[in-house]
Amino acid sequence: MDRRDLLKLGVLSTTVALTNTYASTPSHNTASSTNAINKVQNKKRVIIIGGGYAGLTVAKNIRLHEKNSEILVFEPKNLFASCPYSNLWFGEALEAKYDDLLFSPLQPASKYNYQVVNEKVISINKEKKTISTLDKEYEYSILVVATGIEYDYSTYGLDETKAKECATLYPASYTGGYEQLSLKKKIEEFKGGTFVITVPKGAYRCPPAPYERAALVASYFKEKNLNAKVVILDPREKPTTKAKGFLEAFDTLYKDYIEYLPTSNITNIDTKNKAITYDTFDTSSKAFVKKVLNFDDANIIPSNKASSLISQSGLAVNSQGWARVKAPSFQSLNDENIYLVGDIVGEYPFPKSAQMAHSSGIILGEQIGKILKGQNPEFGLKLPANVCYSMVSKSTAIAVTHQAYLENGEVKVKTELFENADNATADATKSWYFGITQNIFE
Ligand SMILES: Cc1cc2nc3c(=O)[nH]c(=O)nc-3n(C[C@H](O)[C@H](O)[C@H](O)COP(=O)(O)OP(=O)(O)OC[C@H]3O[C@@H](n4cnc5c(N)ncnc54)[C@H](O)[C@@H]3O)c2cc1C
Repeated sequence: MDRRDLLKLGVLSTTVALTNTYASTPSHNTASSTNAINKVQNKKRVIIIGGGYAGLTVAKNIRLHEKNSEILVFEPKNLFASCPYSNLWFGEALEAKYDDLLFSPLQPASKYNYQVVNEKVISINKEKKTISTLDKEYEYSILVVATGIEYDYSTYGLDETKAKECATLYPASYTGGYEQLSLKKKIEEFKGGTFVITVPKGAYRCPPAPYERAALVASYFKEKNLNAKVVILDPREKPTTKAKGFLEAFDTLYKDYIEYLPTSNITNIDTKNKAITYDTFDTSSKAFVKKVLNFDDANIIPSNKASSLISQSGLAVNSQGWARVKAPSFQSLNDENIYLVGDIVGEYPFPKSAQMAHSSGIILGEQIGKILKGQNPEFGLKLPANVCYSMVSKSTAIAVTHQAYLENGEVKVKTELFENADNATADATKSWYFGITQNIFE
């Protein structure tokens, strides 16, 4: 793939591999009859838990292939606030506005004939084929779980009370909504000193996002001529992705504004006294030493985990709690009527990104459409692809692409890096974002 192809990638999706298994058409009348259950009537019913990038894409794409089923999307938030493009708003890049992040799912819901139920799902009963909210139980024919991520502060040594304090004082802004408003205010009101950004341990959503955020916050402080430093505490030896591009930007554009501290394993955060304790490798003594970093303000991004809803429901998960699916499909490893898509999946070496969630959602929507029509869903015939742009200044960006492919029945990923920052990639960042959101919310 050359740079022209990369710039053309807006909403890219599929490549062809081998046909695989055939999922049986689900029956639609297996729930035990209780008055409280909202039962499947004369139409098959698909329930989608989570109205984020993955869930809404699946809803639309089922409808593009099948017209008769009932589709219900359960989503507790009543406003879609995007994480992609939020760093640009924080750093005032490409004239991004908060409005650019906000969308209503009711528009596509009316166009593509699905319903948005503004409620949280609190349990799944696989045996009865039902899901429950606080006050109702709904039967499904097919269930899609697309609940994204939850935060896990325990890896920073914080118990539940301290985790809540940390989330209030130093919001992660790793999901959309009020955390974004708080972080923006922090950045705007910062008077100078040390502003810490932490990179999560383990698998987390949007691997480049903490580094992109650091670059754009530093750019903002630099433009304001603040006597300020963004300190990045990273448990890894180098940035998780696009390391060359990010380190080059930190060294050249933000020499006096960014301090990158690799191999920094946070063990505690004293939220009141604004101090982070971490272990780091000392090259002179060749041993790990304990250090304390005092800060003036912070954006503490904790580890990510899949929602406990899936493990509590008895769905197969890996040792880190991410969902397991039957390769090369999105079908649960232990329930053929349940599909999992987006950031919650831990089976494949896919980065957790909106583009990957969207590309996977397009494929899964088509497969479910075929199942509903009694056709072969042809799992593995199409596999998802990703492009992920990162701004390193207000007007330049770098990128990476991922293409999933099948090798001996295993899903693998080919990665290509574009790490020389330029304006054309920044323009592509904007086109990509407005392309994907238009595709979902048109
Ligand atoms: C700062 C930042 C920048 C990013 N930039 C990019 C980028 O440039 N490009 C890119 O491709 N990706 C980017 N991402 C990653 C992207 O945001 C995620 O990968 C994407 O949102 C994943 O989609 P999802 O549908 O799996 O999860 P989400 O979009 O988070 O959707 C999950 C939804 O499920 C709902 N939910 C959770 N539990 C329940 C429940 N029990 N009942 C009902 N609903 C529930 C949640 O409220 C949420 O709306 C970025 C992320 C961050 C944090």
